[in-house]
Amino acid sequence: MRKIMLLGGPGSGKGTQAQILQEEYKIPQISTGDIIRAAIKAQTPLGQKFQTYSNKGKLVPDKLVVALVEERMKEPDVAQGWILDGFPRTIKQAKALDTMLKRRKEALEGVILLQVPEEILFERLTGRRTCSVCKQTFHTKFKPAPEHGCTDGGPHILEHRKDDSPEVVPVRLEAFQHETAPLIDYYKAQGKLHLVEGDQSMEQVRAQFKQLMGD
Ligand code: AMP
Repeated sequence: MRKIMLLGGPGSGKGTQAQILQEEYKIPQISTGDIIRAAIKAQTPLGQKFQTYSNKGKLVPDKLVVALVEERMKEPDVAQGWILDGFPRTIKQAKALDTMLKRRKEALEGVILLQVPEEILFERLTGRRTCSVCKQTFHTKFKPAPEHGCTDGGPHILEHRKDDSPEVVPVRLEAFQHETAPLIDYYKAQGKLHLVEGDQSMEQVRAQFKQLMGD
């Protein structure tokens, strides 16, 4: 498979796996969360709009996200394949993706569902910290950042995402349950769904992905 989508709750490891796949198979990760965060950081007019949703843990309106993905899919690097990470997140978005791909005369080859229990997602997200310099992800309890070890051997500059706060995480988990989880049946019905237990060691998850991708 080279045209895939990663499905899973916030903190299930989609982003981490997508980055590994991007490196290994030389196909781009398309993360709507990353695109949205970049627009917020740049404070573009669209970014300011996104901010009102994302900071509260709510989903950005379907139309806007679909337009972002359509734009991204115009880049030349998607010719050999792509890894959709965090999109689609609603049935409406999934249908828009189907239409978009049909128009492009291509198809989604598979959906990998990373399944992780909610209480683990909560702990992973609230403890997650990202270095703003080298972009590595750490966890206050499970993977503390070493004192030195950033790109130049200096200290990591750790950031805590606003939407990873204990107040906002439950809103995101609920958005997943209510708006995104219906995609599981949607893709099951299309015969495209593959399941990976996300609550295993990184190596085990990686090995299952490798098998599914089929070299
Ligand atoms: P993520 O990094 O994937 O957890 O996304 C962070 C935030 O960006 C989400 O909580 C939403 O506010 C927004 N977002 C990302 N992808 C989507 C999407 N496909 N549909 C709607 N909102 C999204």
